[in-house]
Amino acid sequence: MGKVLIIGAGGVATVAAVKMAKNRDVFSEIMIASRTKSKCDAIAERIGGNVKTAHVDADSVDELVILFEMYRPELVVNLALPYQDLTIMEACLRCGVNYLDTANYEPKDEAHFEYSWQWAYKKRFEAAGLTAILGCGFDPGVSGIYTAYAAKHIFDEIHYLDIVDCNAGNHHKAFATNFNPEINIREITQKGRFYEDGEWKQTGALEVHKPLTYPNIGPRESYLMYHEELESLVKNYPTIKRARFWMTFGQEYLTHLRVIQNIGMASIEPILYEGKEIVPLQFLKAVLPNPQDLGANYEGETSIGCRIRGVKNGEEHTYYIYNNCSHQAAYEETGMQGVSYTTGVPAMIGARMFMLGLWKRPGVWNVEEFDPDPFMEELNKQGLPWHEVHDGDLEL
Ligand code: NDP
Repeated sequence: MGKVLIIGAGGVATVAAVKMAKNRDVFSEIMIASRTKSKCDAIAERIGGNVKTAHVDADSVDELVILFEMYRPELVVNLALPYQDLTIMEACLRCGVNYLDTANYEPKDEAHFEYSWQWAYKKRFEAAGLTAILGCGFDPGVSGIYTAYAAKHIFDEIHYLDIVDCNAGNHHKAFATNFNPEINIREITQKGRFYEDGEWKQTGALEVHKPLTYPNIGPRESYLMYHEELESLVKNYPTIKRARFWMTFGQEYLTHLRVIQNIGMASIEPILYEGKEIVPLQFLKAVLPNPQDLGANYEGETSIGCRIRGVKNGEEHTYYIYNNCSHQAAYEETGMQGVSYTTGVPAMIGARMFMLGLWKRPGVWNVEEFDPDPFMEELNKQGLPWHEVHDGDLEL
């Protein structure tokens, strides 16, 4: 039993909070704190029961420290934006609080993400006897746990890893992103990158693509992108010869994205507008649909999994492990669409693993460094069941 503090009050935080409230055996006290307190209050109201709320600007270590000292949580679940990872980790160290997040640190003024900034905290968390669990959403998150499960139970050595992420849902909007538009557009307009034979290889943004067949969905054009879990997975599984990440996009989405980029609206360089400095991408976020409002009319499913080739007892095998999540079912349960659901549920399960002492180890860790088995068991119980295909055609 323990006290948890969620930071952020967006779609992912809503799902995590709703799910924590259904796991009161572990989360005895819940607080939600964010920049806009009214959003925390709305989540608390949706849940009912005893949920505290607070205002906090998570860019300020001092404000965080005041809040942590007042509430004294055992674990902070950071579901704000990647920009706040380091300030929240810093405040955790000052107050002796454990940490979990779903996205790696990204500086506001540079569309670039990597783990080095957060891994640099390892010794300090170790010395303080505190646990930090990084990247505990779906991808990163479950993608790493699936890989750890395959490494533990299916293969002696993993050689080829392809993480495949399909959203075959339809929200009936001309253009919308499924999570924070600023973070999402920064991510997909980056150059592609994958790991092969000990080195990172670069491609143009969304330049490499092919149709892949997703269970219960069918073929969807899938685009090679860089994704953060590749960085930790190739480090933690050195037998990997090639690791790639693929995500599906519809033609309509890509056309809008191209126009947004061509007219300069994806830029993160501040410009002067009527005497005021604005960042075009932040302005765009303000006019795009709020991802939290997509749920009501969202149909279809997401399908995210790992397609793996490796050897067991000297023989080559393939393995595909995946989850399909219905947007409608996610909305009915939590009021949020499937992308928030597939991120918020693993964040809650990771927090549950920590509270139960199953994933508690001083230092800074990526999810695949913990025992995947209890987490995999919970996925089946908490709404994200997984399925396996042995020795099928991986198409990759
Ligand atoms: P939202 O934009 O819906 O929510 C972010 C929340 O953080 C908002 O409530 C926002 O406040 C709050 N926030 C932003 N800045 C601050 C600040 N300085 N201080 C306090 N609160 C702040 O995002 P999502 O819920 O869609 O995503 C949340 C996180 O999940 C992101 O980091 C995203 O990258 C990650 N993610 C991870 C995935 C995975 O599979 N691993 C997949 C999808 C998302 P306000 O309401 O005032 O704006």
